[in-house]
Amino acid sequence: MRTVIAGGGLVGLTAAAALRGIGHDVTVLEQAPEIRAAGAGIGLWRNALDELDRIGVGDQVRSMGHEIDTWFFDPTGQSHRAAGYGDADHRFLLVPRPALNTVLADAIGRERIRLNTGLIGFTEDEDGVTVHLADGDLKADLLIGADGVYSKVRRWLLPNSDAYQDLGHFAWRAIVPAGDERPEGSVLTIGRDRTRGGYARVGEHQTMWMVNQFDAGDLKGSKRDRALRRAHNLAESGWHDDLLRMIADTPEDDILENQIMYVPELPTWTSERVALIGDAAHGLSPHIAAGGTLGIEDVGVLRDELAGSAGLPEALRRYEIARMARFERVREFSASVEQAKDAEEFAERYAAFSHWMLTA
Ligand SMILES: Cc1cc2nc3c(=O)[nH]c(=O)nc-3n(C[C@H](O)[C@H](O)[C@H](O)COP(=O)(O)OP(=O)(O)OC[C@H]3O[C@@H](n4cnc5c(N)ncnc54)[C@H](O)[C@@H]3O)c2cc1C
Repeated sequence: MRTVIAGGGLVGLTAAAALRGIGHDVTVLEQAPEIRAAGAGIGLWRNALDELDRIGVGDQVRSMGHEIDTWFFDPTGQSHRAAGYGDADHRFLLVPRPALNTVLADAIGRERIRLNTGLIGFTEDEDGVTVHLADGDLKADLLIGADGVYSKVRRWLLPNSDAYQDLGHFAWRAIVPAGDERPEGSVLTIGRDRTRGGYARVGEHQTMWMVNQFDAGDLKGSKRDRALRRAHNLAESGWHDDLLRMIADTPEDDILENQIMYVPELPTWTSERVALIGDAAHGLSPHIAAGGTLGIEDVGVLRDELAGSAGLPEALRRYEIARMARFERVREFSASVEQAKDAEEFAERYAAFSHWMLTA
């Protein structure tokens, strides 16, 4: 089967590696001039690592990440963890995003990735799908839209499905040299004025800090000023002097600032020969720290359906039914984690989500 994947981000690259494994002739189209990953570190849960094992890169990914034990705090430094959940419900692997995408691109074979290549449209008929590029057409049997939250494949498949801004909701992050941070693993503080943030080790020598706020108001000053101002909502009575120091010492250019975007709930994720996957299908809040992990889950389900005996449209339909049903629950969990009013409630809701994701 000739398969074109639009988007060489985490999910598109994982899909390419997985589908190569079942014999697809895969081409990845990436609009950027290189395989890179916006973002600092990404937390991968056990379900994502299982899938990366299936495509043969699990151990490599584990060796470059750092296992995180998640702890939640209020702004005075009081720790909270929900009762009745196991260690596994609080553990994930934090991996530097660029290194992760490099491993995946190497696993696919760089010759199968066309850089500087953005799609400008596609036409689908019963013989196949024709992908339109600036320099000509590409014929395929299957087109996978893994082109992220601003997906054009989604827009062409489902007009009026553009991602929308969660107004005032921003995230700031950076990776910095590790210092003498607290030993818990990861520290996430649920602070005042709907601010959350903290830090986690990405590897032996690096730490990632993050701060986000809903209803962030005016964005004044440098990115560092903006992050620092919000970080004070997490830091009372000396708790988090370490985080304040970390942010103050971060070079401005190393700080990422994201407006948080959401993909609306879609009526369908597929047609006869086109499937949406990853953030293109379900870009959601970062508060559950699992969008990439769930995108990798999409890949596993799609690969299994395409490897089965059903024809292409039926395989895509089964993929869609399974994943849309799962995402009905994910959306509920995501909203509940977002709305948690304090550290205790956040810890409870976060554990309920991660436990469900890992076991259901
Ligand atoms: C602040 C923040 C923190 C997060 N933390 C976590 C976390 O800890 N764990 C987790 O699992 N998830 C996390 N997420 C979510 C995670 O980042 C996303 O779910 C994941 O990156 C989605 O991957 P993707 O491949 O679907 O999309 P993307 O990573 O966005 O990749 C899309 C790719 O498609 C390319 N592209 C776009 N349009 C075209 C086109 N027309 N033609 C060709 N190429 C195109 C882009 O250049 C890009 O390379 C977080 C998100 C945010 C914002």
